[in-house]
Amino acid sequence: MSLGINFNTNSACNWRCVYCQVNNLTLGAAPAIDFALLEQELRYFLNDLLHGDFYDRFGVEADRRVIKDIAIAGDGEPTTLKQFAEAIELIGSIATDMGVFPNSDFVLITNGSLMHQAKVQQGLEALNRYGGQVWYKFDSATEAGRRRFNNASLSCQASYTNLLVSARLCTTKVQTCLFDFDRQGLTEQEKTAYLELLRKIKADSAAQQIAITQIMLYTVARQSKQPEADRISALPAAVLHALADEIRALGFDVSVSI
Ligand code: SF4
Repeated sequence: MSLGINFNTNSACNWRCVYCQVNNLTLGAAPAIDFALLEQELRYFLNDLLHGDFYDRFGVEADRRVIKDIAIAGDGEPTTLKQFAEAIELIGSIATDMGVFPNSDFVLITNGSLMHQAKVQQGLEALNRYGGQVWYKFDSATEAGRRRFNNASLSCQASYTNLLVSARLCTTKVQTCLFDFDRQGLTEQEKTAYLELLRKIKADSAAQQIAITQIMLYTVARQSKQPEADRISALPAAVLHALADEIRALGFDVSVSI
């Protein structure tokens, strides 16, 4: 069981990735959070999992009745929430109080674009205190690719700086979505730039005593809800595995999700 918490109930994000599966995605930030409601819902659901009949109701097999993680992964960028740090603290304290942490993971899935903000850094400090981890989106190491795939104005260099900020504050894994856009496959230009980025991560993280060791590759599994949907398809597994081997040769742990 991965329990997802969605801060972006208004489907608002500060990026517009062409593969995004959020319905009616809009440009913007998460709305203000109702902390009393968050606490009530989280306690109710965790209680149902831990002590109720949730698994029976949904026919979950006995060996799969485990809370793998609580993941902040919503319909938009979660760090756009104004009360981000307070929300992370509240979730961490409730899950600890109910005996879920530290046995289960606490995951923040983010595009990393707001890591320079104090409230986001405070949230990562709290996440770290609860043994959490950041899955940091880095789909392209070229400026053209970032504009094309993510519609992101954040430069590659700024995203890289933010990645190091994240890794200084909390365990951080790089998460990369690779896909076929306009039947171009994984272009040599994208691949070369991405591997160069990883070499830089290796060198800089060693010099600054930051640990960025894990790379998670995946491709699109479901239909995009963006206008570009027809131009996008999954990359063949062989392409992902071949790239994973090249990344392993640089000294990283790599996982591939197809
Ligand atoms: S960062 Fe995530 S939520 Fe935002 S557009 Fe990209 S895939 Fe969608």
